[in-house]
Amino acid sequence: MTHPTSNIRLFNTLTRQKESFSPINPGEVRMYTCGPTVYDYAHIGNFRAFLFEDLLKRWLKHRGFKVFQVMNVTDIDDKTIKGAQKQQIPLKQYTEHYAKAFFEDAKALNIEPADVYPRATEHIPEMVSLIKTLIAKGFAYKSEDGSIYYAISKFPEYGKLSHLKTQELKAGARVKVDEYAKEEAQDFALWKAWTPEDGEIFWETPLGKGRPGWHIECSAMSMKYLGETFDIHCGGIDNMFPHHENEIAQSEAATGKPFVHVWMHNEHLMVEGRKMAKRFGNFYTLRDLLAKNCDPKAIRYLLLSTHYRQQFNFTFEGLEAAKGAIERLTNLMRRLHDADGKGNGAKISQLIVKVQGCFGEAMDDDLNISVALASLFEFARDVNNLLDADELSKAEAEKVYALMEDFDKVLGVVGKIEEEKLPKEAALLIQKREEARKAKDWKTADEIRQQLKTMGFVIEDTAQGVRWRKEKA
Ligand SMILES: [Zn+2]
Repeated sequence: MTHPTSNIRLFNTLTRQKESFSPINPGEVRMYTCGPTVYDYAHIGNFRAFLFEDLLKRWLKHRGFKVFQVMNVTDIDDKTIKGAQKQQIPLKQYTEHYAKAFFEDAKALNIEPADVYPRATEHIPEMVSLIKTLIAKGFAYKSEDGSIYYAISKFPEYGKLSHLKTQELKAGARVKVDEYAKEEAQDFALWKAWTPEDGEIFWETPLGKGRPGWHIECSAMSMKYLGETFDIHCGGIDNMFPHHENEIAQSEAATGKPFVHVWMHNEHLMVEGRKMAKRFGNFYTLRDLLAKNCDPKAIRYLLLSTHYRQQFNFTFEGLEAAKGAIERLTNLMRRLHDADGKGNGAKISQLIVKVQGCFGEAMDDDLNISVALASLFEFARDVNNLLDADELSKAEAEKVYALMEDFDKVLGVVGKIEEEKLPKEAALLIQKREEARKAKDWKTADEIRQQLKTMGFVIEDTAQGVRWRKEKA
């Protein structure tokens, strides 16, 4: 069996460099993406990360790799506990609601499902066993209140992902909350001993009565499904510290092996020029946008169309432009579907080779989507010109159509082209015109042709009968 050899280069946060990518097992990429914390509906900043990961996965598949993707669902952490208690419902009932909403949203955005969606609450034994290993190896200790902490001073490489200097680390000081700032780099909780605030939410384990910290969840679940060392770990830039730094510390201390080869992080999302925040009135979940009748495909396109390592500014104007871009691609595919011109062998072949080269090279270069899209729209323009001149044969058009479908497998914004339906009155007019032609009443036939033209339909009489198409807007 031959394996794909790729020229894919990915920016690795660990080295802060673009590196040639080749997976550990030839032909198969194993990747982990930090999934949703199901305490609320996911906002569009979350979806920027999930869409970047979807694009990465689709591109790897386009280049011939098999991709095995694991995305966790965090259904136990500080935020989910707080949320469930506020609503006074069991944690499971609370998190299931938001998990279901997440899957619906992901589907609306045409995000390909991961292969496994492990839930944190279903992997407590794996977490306990990992913590026991860390204690046995001297990387973790029990504090006075029964909680178990990771001793960052025992792991000299702590800080290698976020490039934190070791002198900034406060050895011995402890932080128990799941999320904290860079300045608070200190021993973090692996296992949180039960306190009355936790109420009914606890597990009785060999480590005592309590619950896991957030960071250990991802180490335990990723290694369970992907092995001790795997290819790619993705997430939003705000997860780089402390979450991903802690994942490395936990996993590598336990196994003595490198945890992940390539770390990839997407940049922040801004909305209308500023940080998205409820207090600025620019905070949107996907559901908020769908309720405003925004097209999910346009949202997908917009969130994908800026390079993932660039800060991106979401605007409603941008959403309109995205809609226009998708329409251009869709219209081209419709026209290709109907094309039956005289043929133009050399020219279209050259255009195809060119766009395949440009699009591919750009995407291989750390998913340089803006350059890839620019080459695609240049191609679309050239093909439209050929169609205008009736220079594309049926076979050539079919070839271009198949190519466009290939590109759309990567972008996921056009989907199935529905046959355009002729409005009833236009259909009646065409029928009347046929009757006039049969009666050799050329004057009436011409008048009807004009009438259809003002309605936006172009009529052609061919050997196979009457053909119609919508006039290009
Ligand atoms: Zn994670």
